[in-house]
Amino acid sequence: MPIKFENVNYEYPTEDKSVVAVKGVTLEIEDGSFVCVCGENGSGKSTLAKLMNGLLAPTSGVVTVDGRSTATEEETELFAIRQKVGMVFQNPDNQMIASIIEDEIAFGPENLGVPREEIGERIDYALSAVGMTEYRYNTPYKLSGGQKQRIAIAAVLAMKPEVLVLDESTAMLDPKGRAEVIKVAEELNKQGITIVLITHFMEEATRADRVIVMNGGSVVMDGTPAEIFRKREEIERYDLELPVADAIAAALIGEGLPLEDRIYSASELAEAICRSK
Ligand code: ADP
Ligand code: MG
Repeated sequence: MPIKFENVNYEYPTEDKSVVAVKGVTLEIEDGSFVCVCGENGSGKSTLAKLMNGLLAPTSGVVTVDGRSTATEEETELFAIRQKVGMVFQNPDNQMIASIIEDEIAFGPENLGVPREEIGERIDYALSAVGMTEYRYNTPYKLSGGQKQRIAIAAVLAMKPEVLVLDESTAMLDPKGRAEVIKVAEELNKQGITIVLITHFMEEATRADRVIVMNGGSVVMDGTPAEIFRKREEIERYDLELPVADAIAAALIGEGLPLEDRIYSASELAEAICRSK
């Protein structure tokens, strides 16, 4: 069980009144799962993400990664936790430090003290995993947003994480870039890496094993995509929108078209409509 939250609260210390960003969260992220975290702006998603790898320690309650508390003061423990749970953030440009992609990928393993010969192998692995092998000696500046995020993912992969947390890493990308990043996340999940995908695109949640909805710092819904999407009114109450194809399917069912009540992709919906004639 890589990540476990037990009655976790997180309060940001501010000058006037404190902001409780995460409230009473108890959850486990199972090994090898693909979990989507959705929620409106300010619902506590990023705070939850930072609690997962010890960037923040809970104000109360306990977060453990492979049984170790993230509240540790031990530098080496914290280092181990951050290596296990890698994070990719929203803005690809803020995550690049090196002027050559290879150096960008080498940075993490170098900091972990990985031997030089192995660093080369890790660069090969990480770039190939995100489909960016031919860009090894390029500069990151000229890449598209989707490519930059794939490099950001590769930089985390080079540290051989067990869990990859993507905090709205598709939010600033065009549809093509978003699709590239999601495809990489799915591939990595197939290879056994646990994925926590934080997004406000409910479309992306259709691919997950599990969807967690946050609102006001609490987990308000937790289930399979089918279980969550079926609760349409509740989703709307939390200011989330159903995936377009699913919303259309719901409306058609409402109008009496005999479709199955399940989640549809655009192409599945088209087929189902044609079949129903
Ligand atoms: P989300 O990622 O879902 O938008 P966040 O975790 O960023 O939500 O924020 C949750 C709450 O915590 C919001 O009310 C936000 O304003 C507040 N918050 C986030 N970061 C800070 C901070 N550094 N200092 C004070 N309050 C913060
Ligand atoms: Mg956020």
